Amino acid sequence: KPLGTGGTEEKIFVSVRLRPLNAKEIAKNNVSDWECINDNTIIFRNSLPERSMFPTAYTFDRVFRCDCSTRQVYEEAAKEVVLSVVSGINSSIFAYGQTSSGKTYTMSGITDYSVADIFDYIKRHEERAFVLKFSAMEIYNEVVRDLLVADSTPLRLLDDPERGTIVDKLTEETVRDWNHMQELLSTCEAQRQSGETSLNEASSRSHQILRLTIESSAREFLSKDSSSSLSASVNFVDLAGSERASQALSAGTRLKEGCHINRSLLSLGTVIRKLSKGRNGHVPYRDSKLTRILQPSIGGNARTAIICTMSPARSYVEQSRNTLLFASCAK
Ligand code: ADP
Ligand code: MG
Repeated sequence: KPLGTGGTEEKIFVSVRLRPLNAKEIAKNNVSDWECINDNTIIFRNSLPERSMFPTAYTFDRVFRCDCSTRQVYEEAAKEVVLSVVSGINSSIFAYGQTSSGKTYTMSGITDYSVADIFDYIKRHEERAFVLKFSAMEIYNEVVRDLLVADSTPLRLLDDPERGTIVDKLTEETVRDWNHMQELLSTCEAQRQSGETSLNEASSRSHQILRLTIESSAREFLSKDSSSSLSASVNFVDLAGSERASQALSAGTRLKEGCHINRSLLSLGTVIRKLSKGRNGHVPYRDSKLTRILQPSIGGNARTAIICTMSPARSYVEQSRNTLLFASCAK
């Protein structure tokens, strides 16, 4: 299935990226049980008897071997979805997977390549005037915070009759130039890192959304078609570690945090499953902050790509399996 041009019947593009074994895993004699046998299929090589009831081969729009670069992942699993934003189509790119599987590694690379391509596009289209806006937020325990503000207070979601759900008082910076863009990205990274030490590995428990909004209008003196003005957003979503969802499930609703993370991740899963099955029926966007915020950018006419990251290590085989099951449901 090629990445198309954004028709309403477009499905979610689902890919899987296997990361290499890291030094710690190798030191513990971990071996890789997973192998990408072609561009679409990943198999579990080691058929341990007690796991024989599980399927051993999984097929997706694209699978990336552990020696694939982030550039390659971007080009083949994200670029077209990202660039639909310059044609006025909202889009979202998700990184899903357990903690340490490579979500942040993958998503930050993809964000950088996307920004570079968007700047390049703007430079090559002088017939239009562009305005670029950037905002960034984090959802932790169903509380939304601004990643462009130090010690952000919790932000409320409001229902705007025209714009849908909006995050009240979220900073939206108009991007002046390339350097400004880089500054904004580093501010977000610093905010997230400071949270990590104070909130005990908060990044594995929180969802991060970086949003770039692109508005453009034809410059009349250059363009034959002066009528069109476009506006759309692309969202780069680095999800909380997926192990939280399964842990929260097994622990019941004892932990508030587990419960909320469960809610946002599970509710995203439900929304994506519903969308992948077709456009009929109720899609429960309103069940979590994450899905409410992203509603305009998933489903409908929006374009979505999900990159599921996984560790090849045997010690994580159950988590990797859960990730592949999630990915299978999104297809
Ligand atoms: P997550 O965000 O899912 O918790 P990270 O992106 O932080 O995981 O990755 C965990 C570690 O593994 C980091 O040190 C990262 O640099 C490394 N890593 C992840 N994916 C890859 C990859 N494809 N190639 C090389 N190193 C990777
Ligand atoms: Mg991370």
